[in-house]
Amino acid sequence: MKLIAIDLDGTLLGEKRQISEENSSAIRQAEEQGIEVVIATGRAYFDARSICEKAGLNPYIISYTGATIHSKQGRSIYSMPMDKRDVKQIVRWLDENRFYYEVSTDTGIYTPVVGKEILQLELYELKGTPGETKLVGLEKLMKVMYGQFGMVFFNKYEEFINKDEGFYKILGCSFNELKHQSGMDQFSSMKQLGMVSSADSNFELLNQQASKGNALKLLAAQLRIPLDQVMAIGDSPNDISMLESVKCSVAMGNAKEEIKGICKFVTHTNINNGVAFAIYNYARVHNKKTQP
Ligand code: CA
Repeated sequence: MKLIAIDLDGTLLGEKRQISEENSSAIRQAEEQGIEVVIATGRAYFDARSICEKAGLNPYIISYTGATIHSKQGRSIYSMPMDKRDVKQIVRWLDENRFYYEVSTDTGIYTPVVGKEILQLELYELKGTPGETKLVGLEKLMKVMYGQFGMVFFNKYEEFINKDEGFYKILGCSFNELKHQSGMDQFSSMKQLGMVSSADSNFELLNQQASKGNALKLLAAQLRIPLDQVMAIGDSPNDISMLESVKCSVAMGNAKEEIKGICKFVTHTNINNGVAFAIYNYARVHNKKTQP
């Protein structure tokens, strides 16, 4: 292997949403042995960079689910923003239908002030229904969302919509299954958009050209690395495009069956350092730390 692409949430990040010492050590050893590493995440660029820096890592970063690529030095290599008119139309609909949503740009993750109230109400409505079993997971997911670096809260979308910067991704989220489905139905007809999902309750809207798979292919081409020397590791539907574009695809032990089914290997779960296991066993990186 010459290049390893790694998703963050549910993959490289453990329970406390940090990169473990075992995983960061495996990445560092891969780099020392001449392998390039790229993080491929749905998160914003500055959020992903801050998570990596905390673990002492400095990789390439594919962010906003493939809409941007940044070099190890933080230089922008590629960006594929959404059309501003689409952004306005989408945001207006999400507002009217009282959705929690996030608009990710070069400088921030814009989210309505009322979003938290909307999600809390949806959680409350699940109590006493068959959906109640999912409550703990959804509360955790909400913590992840509000723990992102760079969140900017607004009352009206007019506060940011006319800024002169790239708008890369809109994430819509609802814990109400029917409402979530209504959002997916609404936007699946906009053919100029790509739509993927990183969790059961959300959908991500992007420029149709933007995907983790396309971004990974672009980066590999620029580094002159053939795709059969690239390994990709992920756990969610928004990883499918990159898992399908490489020969050495690895699903996390915690991934859904649909993801495991398309991958060559299945590694341990994210809380059991599945990334480190994959790096040593499938990318054949020699773990010098196990030698005296
Ligand atoms: Ca993930």
